[in-house]
Amino acid sequence: MKRALVLGAGGFIGSHIVRRLKKEGFWVRGVDLKYPCYEDTPADDFIVGDLRDLSICREAINMKFDEVYQLAADMGGAGYIFVGVNDYDVMQNSAVINLNVLETCRLRNVKRIFFSSSACMYPENVQINTDDCNLPEHLAYPAAPDSEYGWEKLFSERLYLAAARNKKMQVRVARYHNIFGERGSWNNGKEKAPAALCRKVAMADVNGVIDVWGDGMQTRSFLHVDECVEATLRLMRSDFTGPVNIGSDEMISINGLVKMIDSIAKKNIKINNIPGPLGVKGRNSDNTLYEQKIGWRVSEPLINGIERTYKWINEQVKLSKEDTSN
Ligand code: NAD
Repeated sequence: MKRALVLGAGGFIGSHIVRRLKKEGFWVRGVDLKYPCYEDTPADDFIVGDLRDLSICREAINMKFDEVYQLAADMGGAGYIFVGVNDYDVMQNSAVINLNVLETCRLRNVKRIFFSSSACMYPENVQINTDDCNLPEHLAYPAAPDSEYGWEKLFSERLYLAAARNKKMQVRVARYHNIFGERGSWNNGKEKAPAALCRKVAMADVNGVIDVWGDGMQTRSFLHVDECVEATLRLMRSDFTGPVNIGSDEMISINGLVKMIDSIAKKNIKINNIPGPLGVKGRNSDNTLYEQKIGWRVSEPLINGIERTYKWINEQVKLSKEDTSN
């Protein structure tokens, strides 16, 4: 039986990867500070532990694994990454996790390790327009990310790539672009735009008004977690090291996304654009390299994933209302 290790298995993408690996018949060990928030983990073994602690890394990586997925990081949406007060924690915590995990994998002869980088590592100056903001991988340098989160991802990408060059390790590095979907953070201050906007629409009355950060013209692309997992596993099992984008190239403005959610909720919501933490003006995933190297493309229309996600968040909102009324 093949064995996989998922670090960050209590988080959003990690828990989806665990579920997929179990379906494929893997024996799976998960590690995280916490269990998944919205489901019982299907992992065969789950270590609740802090990967900043080397002894936890040694306990987690104490056997032969065919695949290791490193997703643990101190992260969140714009309200966490772009407000300044979390900068030190984000850099310190995630860098120490990556240094510890990679060195332990090296000492234990782990064959292949996947690292989840982020589109936030791209320089701000190539993302100042709301259109014409495709991000092919080569635009990463000269580096100038707009957040410490992006700088840590850049450092860690380079760390994994150096391990591949100098230590004969097989690494796979992906730059995720705004992954969303069911069972992700939606109300704890770490949620990202799709979940936050689904929650606001779900909580609003018919003909109600919701606050949206910025002028709403800022553009992004969003990839549903199911296609993210598929793209991740295909990269992991390919011969290509990366770094490579994993994202959707269906770009939409933030106000456009609200309108899309409202077309599902049918509430005739009005948008009140207010100042708030924003990030770059425009960003779209360029998937040319992924398609060339892996021979597969993400293709699900955004609205399909948003439909499933809105349905799930709407249920969560109803459940939390029932909880407070009991
Ligand atoms: P998440 O926050 O849901 O998952 C990260 C998990 O790491 C959390 O469960 C957290 O408890 C765990 N963790 C944090 N510190 C830890 C520690 N010291 N020891 C053990 N576990 C620890 O985030 P996610 O959305 O699932 O993202 C997974 C990875 O993908 C992260 O590395 C993130 O930076 C990257 N990424 C995500 C997106 C996205 O849109 N979701 C975009 C770009 C990159």
